Amino acid sequence: MQNIFDSHAHYDDPRFDEDRDALLSSMASRGVRAIMNVGNTTHANIAGIELAKKYPFIYCSIGIHPDQAAEIAAQNSKDYLDVMAQQLSYEKAMALGEIGLDYYYDDASPRDVQKKIFEQQLALAKDLQVPVIIHNRDAHADTLELLKKYRPQGIMHCFSGSAEIAKEVIKLGMYVGFTGVITFKNARRAIEAAAEIPLDRLLIETDCPYMAPTPFRGSRCDSTMLTQTVAKLAEIKGISPQELADQTCENTCAVYRISSLI
Ligand SMILES: [Zn+2]
Repeated sequence: MQNIFDSHAHYDDPRFDEDRDALLSSMASRGVRAIMNVGNTTHANIAGIELAKKYPFIYCSIGIHPDQAAEIAAQNSKDYLDVMAQQLSYEKAMALGEIGLDYYYDDASPRDVQKKIFEQQLALAKDLQVPVIIHNRDAHADTLELLKKYRPQGIMHCFSGSAEIAKEVIKLGMYVGFTGVITFKNARRAIEAAAEIPLDRLLIETDCPYMAPTPFRGSRCDSTMLTQTVAKLAEIKGISPQELADQTCENTCAVYRISSLI
């Protein structure tokens, strides 16, 4: 398989410290054509820009994840938005994200704080006219409400909702990303959702180092494992794995506004 575009990865993660360069240098020969390294903290945003500068096939996004919302809110300043705007002026910084809401953990940032930081970044994306990458975990209603308010272009990443929610996201004009979770035995809901999503709105992603697909489940994930995710989605859509890879590569370029890959 060739032409794989990993629409969501975290190669700045310390779990890649030992072999990052060797691994990334092997991507082209293993069918991976491009990678979006997604920023989720102030530190990761800087590291992502460095990766994009070093590797022609890596792009980056800039965002503050809900996990860091309380820390950012405690600074009581909007300076972080100025830093993000400046970082987004870099030619390979293609999107604002990942941003959103995460109600899964009890010790997460308070919900009102998460919403405040999310809204500030949605407003910035609107100002700058850049697509967003949305993280939504167990917060479907509040996330959809804010997406309807700000109407950003972009991606619902690591989709975990129902087929009904998938339809709503599509109606908003957004793209939907699926990880290796779609290959898991208990993935019935994700499979139903993927079946609802038009082929031209579908993306593939690793969210690596997390979410390794079957049969690698539990090990460190990387973009070469996307072949498993591609095969499963191709089966759901009734097309060949290569057709699925080609189409999702084209979709990823469209949503991130990449006019031509190297
Ligand atoms: Zn992520």
